[in-house]
Amino acid sequence: MRFRVYFFAALACPLLALAAAPAPKVLALKAAHLLDVRTGLTVRDAVVLIQNDRITAVGSKLAIPAGAQVIDLGEQTLVPGLIDSHTHLTSDPENVGYASVALSIPRQTLIGAKNALKTLKAGFTTVRDVGSEGYTDVGLRDAIDAGDVPGPRIIASGNALGITGGHCDDTMHAPQYRIVGDGVADGVDAVMRKTREVIKYGAGVIKICATGGVLSFGDDPRASQYTFDEMKAIVGEAHRLGRKVAAHAHGGDGIRMAVLAGVDSIDHGSYIDDEGIAIMKAHKTWLVPTLYLGDWLIDNAEAIRLPAALLEKAKVVLPLARKNIARAFSAGVPVAFGTDSGVYPHGLNGREFAVYVKLGMTPLQAIQSATLNAAQLLGMEDRIGAIEVGKYADLIAVKGDPLKDVTQLERVQWVMKNGAVVAR
Ligand SMILES: [Zn+2]
Repeated sequence: MRFRVYFFAALACPLLALAAAPAPKVLALKAAHLLDVRTGLTVRDAVVLIQNDRITAVGSKLAIPAGAQVIDLGEQTLVPGLIDSHTHLTSDPENVGYASVALSIPRQTLIGAKNALKTLKAGFTTVRDVGSEGYTDVGLRDAIDAGDVPGPRIIASGNALGITGGHCDDTMHAPQYRIVGDGVADGVDAVMRKTREVIKYGAGVIKICATGGVLSFGDDPRASQYTFDEMKAIVGEAHRLGRKVAAHAHGGDGIRMAVLAGVDSIDHGSYIDDEGIAIMKAHKTWLVPTLYLGDWLIDNAEAIRLPAALLEKAKVVLPLARKNIARAFSAGVPVAFGTDSGVYPHGLNGREFAVYVKLGMTPLQAIQSATLNAAQLLGMEDRIGAIEVGKYADLIAVKGDPLKDVTQLERVQWVMKNGAVVAR
């Protein structure tokens, strides 16, 4: 259609038409290797053509149009931009527990801007940010989309929903301070209202706490928190309004109830058991394991002054999680990559890959979890997750072959998001 309009315009006044409608500039990426994440095959002498923010052609030794700007990445391997399904960009690990109480909302937002750039430079071009205070994640998302600050594309949850006294409440203060977390809602009516409220203020995904957690006071990660009816009400509202639901869940009961209530992902999944594995497979619920954090948190507990009560929980839950999740991997539960970055320093997200491989995934499966699979979890498989015609030009380059050495993804050399080079 556009061609026809230009054609007639050109007949009428060729010079005017040429001046008014310059063809979009073509960018050509060249690299010795390109990983096709669907097949696991490597395309040699790869060429990717890009116009504006989209990929327009991909192949081996494609002809490069005259006038195209060429970026030659030499011997490197092109991989789709990575997706982290569980981040906390506006948090830093040293702000755990009481260290967090002096941080204002504006300060947290600026912490988020710093971490967004670190995450993008680490090769993560899209993240799902699940749980932050004061809609800092929503503000950060909008600033990135507007081009005000650099960062990954963000699917933001705003306040995470949870029960009074649960992992998503603020449980650090004595009763006289009367502090209640902004995401707290109890009972079917209240959780429906809270779901609508966070969507009103910009949430693109709903995060709930289905069980207790590790980095919260006075709760047990094994115990379920929301009831089945409450979770069903949240999922019903969220889905009706076009949002997916991510459930923080460690204990087996909470995992089962959340899956049966229809959540889209179980995040952490530490105590997943045979029944949980079976129903997650049957319901095609995504597991978002967050495993590298176990190494970092226990090694750095002293440096970040992790309160003793939280360290005790971490020492029990995190090693157990690896055993249980390894069983879920071998049973074929669908997995979408997630890290919980913020509990450990942003930018180290790529260290999660090696843990998945250690627990039984092939390197290709681990890479698929952060590309094809995470794109599906986010409902964005038509736009991200593979280097294919029509998708956003989100690409990274690594040295060597990530299928032989998945730790190459910890040392991303070059990053492009939406067709623009963001880091070399
Ligand atoms: Zn988290």
